[in-house]
Amino acid sequence: MGTRIHYAGEGFLIDSHAHLAMFPEPERSAALERAGEAGVQAVLVPATGREDLDLVAELAGLEAGRVFAAIGFHPHEAARCDATWKRRVERMVASPGVVAVGEIGLDYHYDHSPREDQRKVLAWQLGLAREHGLPVILHHREAWQDFLAALDAAPGVRGVAHSFTEGEAGVAEVTGRGLFVGISGMVTFPRADNVREAAKAVPAGRLLVETDSPYLAPVPHRGRRNEPAYVKLVAEAVARVREVSLETVEAETDAAFRELFLATP
Ligand SMILES: [Zn+2]
Repeated sequence: MGTRIHYAGEGFLIDSHAHLAMFPEPERSAALERAGEAGVQAVLVPATGREDLDLVAELAGLEAGRVFAAIGFHPHEAARCDATWKRRVERMVASPGVVAVGEIGLDYHYDHSPREDQRKVLAWQLGLAREHGLPVILHHREAWQDFLAALDAAPGVRGVAHSFTEGEAGVAEVTGRGLFVGISGMVTFPRADNVREAAKAVPAGRLLVETDSPYLAPVPHRGRRNEPAYVKLVAEAVARVREVSLETVEAETDAAFRELFLATP
């Protein structure tokens, strides 16, 4: 597919969040092939920490222009982000194909790392992103007030609040802070009215779609392994909620992805 992934006047599907590093081979190659067949032009692969940093960077190198990488420590892994790992992250964010710092944030639902560690590592990574002129990929769960406070402490930070579940008021809070909003396959879940409300409320220029593969497979694949090809089902559901065509969602999300991750600030 080469490095040129955009042709004027057409919209394209982009999976703005897929953990392809969690796919063993040959399933990863097969999933990428199916994504191409489904019209998915690019996939952004966020790292989560020690286990996948190298592979995420490698994938972006192997599939230049089609697979992009985000390098960072997920809140679950924050306690493991010591000085040595910080130096590695600092080096890696400058590698080819790395377009963001991520996946970073706060997760007080699982509390896999102490909250104090999560806040410190998030603040450090927000600073790193600003230093390198990179956007961030943000995860937050049951940490809303601290999440907003962390953003307020990093004015001017660009990024996406991924797999957003906060509803209309939440959309206003994050877009008011300059963020984009990522809608996942949860938008197809029968009880996820909050996600549909968010999908409707996001301003057109700030909308991204994602799978969060291998998690959160949309209906009718729910409960099985998710993959980037299914971002089409996400985009179709978003189009229904926003009462626009699939082509409109493709064009809007393609432009938003380009502006956030591929344009030099
Ligand atoms: Zn993720």
